[in-house]
Amino acid sequence: MGNPEAIAFRPIGQNCFAGFIQTLQFKNRMKIAVSACLLGEKVRYDGKDKKNSFIVDELSKIATLIPFCPENLAFKTPREPISIVKIDNEFHIISNETKRDLTKILEEQAKKELLRLKKEKIDAIIFKSKSPSCALGSTDIFDRNKIYKGNGIFAKMCKEEFQNIPMIEEIDLKKREEFLKKLNSKNSFFLKN
Ligand code: SF4
Repeated sequence: MGNPEAIAFRPIGQNCFAGFIQTLQFKNRMKIAVSACLLGEKVRYDGKDKKNSFIVDELSKIATLIPFCPENLAFKTPREPISIVKIDNEFHIISNETKRDLTKILEEQAKKELLRLKKEKIDAIIFKSKSPSCALGSTDIFDRNKIYKGNGIFAKMCKEEFQNIPMIEEIDLKKREEFLKKLNSKNSFFLKN
């Protein structure tokens, strides 16, 4: 086995990524927190999942995946979909059909998920894009007559709490090399013999 510090990161093509990841070995098995719906858990508002094969079939070989879902904790599944609405300069969680303000309920449960992830001492987080809870910059924020993109409620809390760990949305896993490089700065990997 070579000296891990001596092996530089090698650029790779996206197509051979699955093969490449099998050649990686981390000094310590990492813990990566992942939006539960990406792991195939049926916790979305409509009772479905958004299973991501790369995470479930490949990343799971080098990391322990820790699921989280603040919405399922707060409202159970299935549930009415929600949106982020800016009212008087503050972000509110409003149910799409009944227009109830669910901000406090979601924030309380999101704090519990945050505490759990803190105890787990996670090394990275993968978020589901476009979600009003989990999105890292890709959810719609409704502000009177305009709509812009921003963070989900839980992702925002995570950004404030975990300032030094890599975070990514599943749609950005195209930039897997970059993500692995960031992980590598915390937990050097090396190639198996
Ligand atoms: S809250 Fe997050 S983990 Fe739960 S279903 Fe929505 S995107 Fe997935």
